Amino acid sequence: MYTTLLTDATLFEALLAIDQELAATAQAGGCRQCAGRLDHADYPRKPRGGPATLSAAYEKRASFCCDADGCRTRLTPVSVRFLGRRVYLGAVVLLACVLRQGPTPWRVARLHALLGVSARTLARWHRWWRDDFVRTAFWRAARSQFARPVEANEVPGGLLERFDGEAVAQVVAMLRFLGPLTTTSAGTLREARP
Ligand SMILES: [Zn+2]
Repeated sequence: MYTTLLTDATLFEALLAIDQELAATAQAGGCRQCAGRLDHADYPRKPRGGPATLSAAYEKRASFCCDADGCRTRLTPVSVRFLGRRVYLGAVVLLACVLRQGPTPWRVARLHALLGVSARTLARWHRWWRDDFVRTAFWRAARSQFARPVEANEVPGGLLERFDGEAVAQVVAMLRFLGPLTTTSAGTLREARP
């Protein structure tokens, strides 16, 4: 049921709309240090792994800088599109690992053909979920909200299944859930690119 999502333009449009709302809310809140005005100081991105029709808006990750002299504090809002500094989109890092885990696991060659992702990168994402993600302070605090415990060896597919709704809604909900991991202030994403 997740097999078509990697090329589903509606998923990636929905994620963009959510990010735009998250960014607008963050900007409206003003500087967290001095309450000054926040100006856009976005990061350029060249995301990989989405559908061919990916909006040009994906070439930026929203970030802000306080406009007050002597402050200039940067604020990067949480994102449902970008999971840390990885080149690949968060939905791709999630879904590629879920498809590898599924009842009829996708072969590496198939994911490579669709996403251009190497076996090495896939293995690294898999280790990130199993070894790094489950040890984050975020996950240790958040896992208790699930009535049925999510074991480390079920991540990420078993975690995705805990969210309600159709496949698109589950992916959106899980990426929202992971939001705290997507800002540097969380300090929990240790993995380098991609
Ligand atoms: Zn400020």
